[in-house]
Amino acid sequence: MKQVSKFTKSIGIVSLIAISSCYGVNLNKVLWPKIESHIKKNPKVENQIQSILKNMTLEEKVGQMVQAEIKHATPEDVKKYHLGSVLNGGGSFPNNNKYASIKDWLKLADSYYTASVDKANGRAGIPIIWGTDAVHGHNNVMGATIFPHNIGLGAMDNPKVLEQIGQITALEVLSTGIDWVFAPTVAVARNDRWGRAYEAYAENPMLVKKLAGPMVYGLQGRDAKALGQDNVISTAKHFIGDGGTFNGIDQGDNRSTEQELLDIHGQGYITALEAGAQTVMATFNSWKGKKIHGSRYLLTEVLKNKMGFDGFVIGDWNGHGQVKGCSNDSCAQAINAGVDMLMAPQDWKALIKNTINDVKAGKITQARIDDAVTRILRVKLRANLFTKGIPSKRKHANSNIGITKSREIARQAVRESLVLLKNKKQILPLNPKSTILVAGSVAHDIGRQSGGWTLTWQGTGNQNSDFPGGTSIYDGVKKVTTAAGGKAILSKNGTFNKRPDAAIVVFGERPYAEGQGDLNDLNYGLTFAQDLAILKKLKKEGIPVISVFITGRPLWVNPEINASDAFVVAWLPGTEGVGVSDVLFKTKKAYDFKGKLPFSWPNHAMQSELNLGQQSYKPLFKYGYGLTYKDSDNLGDNLSEQAYPGGSAPAPAEKLTVFKGRTYSPFVSYVGDYKNWKKPLNADMGASVAGLVTVISVDKDIQEDARQITFKGGDSNFYFQADTNIDLSSYTKNGVIKLDIRIDKRPNNEANILMGLAKVNFNNYLNVEAMKKWETIAIPLKCFVDKGADFKNFNMPLSFATFGSMQLSIANVDVLKNRPKTVKEFNCK
Ligand code: BGC
Ligand code: BGC
Repeated sequence: MKQVSKFTKSIGIVSLIAISSCYGVNLNKVLWPKIESHIKKNPKVENQIQSILKNMTLEEKVGQMVQAEIKHATPEDVKKYHLGSVLNGGGSFPNNNKYASIKDWLKLADSYYTASVDKANGRAGIPIIWGTDAVHGHNNVMGATIFPHNIGLGAMDNPKVLEQIGQITALEVLSTGIDWVFAPTVAVARNDRWGRAYEAYAENPMLVKKLAGPMVYGLQGRDAKALGQDNVISTAKHFIGDGGTFNGIDQGDNRSTEQELLDIHGQGYITALEAGAQTVMATFNSWKGKKIHGSRYLLTEVLKNKMGFDGFVIGDWNGHGQVKGCSNDSCAQAINAGVDMLMAPQDWKALIKNTINDVKAGKITQARIDDAVTRILRVKLRANLFTKGIPSKRKHANSNIGITKSREIARQAVRESLVLLKNKKQILPLNPKSTILVAGSVAHDIGRQSGGWTLTWQGTGNQNSDFPGGTSIYDGVKKVTTAAGGKAILSKNGTFNKRPDAAIVVFGERPYAEGQGDLNDLNYGLTFAQDLAILKKLKKEGIPVISVFITGRPLWVNPEINASDAFVVAWLPGTEGVGVSDVLFKTKKAYDFKGKLPFSWPNHAMQSELNLGQQSYKPLFKYGYGLTYKDSDNLGDNLSEQAYPGGSAPAPAEKLTVFKGRTYSPFVSYVGDYKNWKKPLNADMGASVAGLVTVISVDKDIQEDARQITFKGGDSNFYFQADTNIDLSSYTKNGVIKLDIRIDKRPNNEANILMGLAKVNFNNYLNVEAMKKWETIAIPLKCFVDKGADFKNFNMPLSFATFGSMQLSIANVDVLKNRPKTVKEFNCK
């Protein structure tokens, strides 16, 4: 009976939305649905909260509302400052040791827990909760089962397996004594340039809606009263509109109407909250120019009041610090807006102090503090934290990590997430008795096939030995061919002695996370030209070529598709690479392709905002596309190879990113000296051929986000250049090239900054500015116009050249249409 009424109710909402958006009916008010959570308010729990709350001091209450990072808070701190929570950020481990054992994790969890429940001197002794980004399995832990990233799970579209993945993730997280995961991401990614597109299940709100609920049920269980011993608390994130920012810029501005916020970006929350997600993470982005961490309307009015969310809102990593008038250690606005717990990795101590002062000064009411703490206690009680005892003695402690049963499910998810885009003359499935060449940069690289948020935050710096129990794609091919009496030959660059029957070439994006993965456009081959060369070489030799593309999003790969007989999108499959060969080969199990595109596939490099239902929707492959072995395929080898319509890349509206953690397409970084004036760098690191210039990666704000360039003496340079021209004439009036620079060693000869061939001397600048500290400079484009730079056919945004020796570091290079007022202008006179 009850179910029936719930069903009709949700149908009612859906049809109203449909009417209002399809027929443009102005309902004036946006109908945020009231969500009926699967976990109900329990009077016993509510009474318990009240009796705990009334004995808490203000210090204890504010402490509950703050979350510190494990690198920056000791168990002693937890006790002294009554911290409510800790997190380990991406790539943060006990003792800062990537190779920390499960016992190390448990030991740290025990020490925080024990400190938190200490009741000496009248302390309330509230158990701490530890949160972690288990976003594709327990991905910070060595040996864990790593599942495909959400984009692959969207391609799989199997709610039952999704719930199993949630259950397994919960068990692995519990093994390390942790209670809370910052997942699932229910973003609806509308622009493929966004560096977090792979964290989204789909571009389609309805698919996100369908999959968010099962994942929450998997993590939290289906018990309507509380979480059980097999469950962890889940987080629906990032509320709201993270996937809809202008130009797909991470942490940028969402300019949707309120109706679109609900219809597009809000759909995942409906099922996640119905399934009882106990926490919601506020998003970094803004809505119409205002940071959401400071939006009382969205966090309190919409989420808590209208939608009826009764768990707690966790802030994102110093997200409160981005609210106007706030800093990382002080932000009454965020608390007043409705953030209940602030994620303050480093500055938590000052934040606690300032918040207490804000309450005393009346900037935050006592009632707001009590509401926040009530919500936090409610979640802790529902998660049974008060009765679970010390982490290392709990039911699942020190078991479950990477066990075979779990890997089998991950392998199934890999199989079901593969999308077949091309299968000329039904070249697939392959005969396992044949000799297969396995080539390409990702053929035998579990780290690269797993993507960002894998052991490290960016997913970089991992080796196969960091994944005990995992398999690469080559491992899978080897297994299936060997078993049948065939053979697999691994050769990254595609060379061979014995002619193979076919080649599987595995290539794709390098790992990235968050804003470091943002792109200017979707042109894959510019950054990764060597892959196409391998495909073409094999094709020329008459060897059938099967491409397996590892990617966090749809990218423009027409030349690579043309050079392949079969083209398979494997997304970011995780540690069970063996799942790929399950489908590529014809075996007794006879697996077929099941995956369908959860994102529309672009026809050229500028088609980044390409979504089902758009007015002039002209993808190369539609949303939902995906061949099976029953389909015949007549795609052909003649897809257009023009990356940019009209031939040249158009100027972006406000800025052209050249370098942010890595070089952005369409640019490539080069070094030059007399032996070779155009040597491309690999990952923006390396040396010129005669060795006169070397480039290494250094840290500015985050890991490896800068490069240090050393000129050893003698004519040499470092530069960024594109193969394609961009018309930047509209930028020359007020534009600048802006970069962060640090002079590590002054030049002993003339030194120049160039755009194309137009050079600006920078010795003068160097003589007056301080050394060895980072500075942001903005050089007006006019300086270069005056010296003859061609902005109509722009392709070389920045170059450093000298005859002498010098050393400098650079980060964050952008060409901007307008000079930001906050940045001092470089005097090029
Ligand atoms: C991300 C969140 C993540 C948090 C903790 C933030 O930068 O936006 O998704 O949960 O860091 O690592
Ligand atoms: C942390 C991540 C976090 C990011 C935010 C990194 O240093 O490891 O967890 O999401 O900072 O910028």
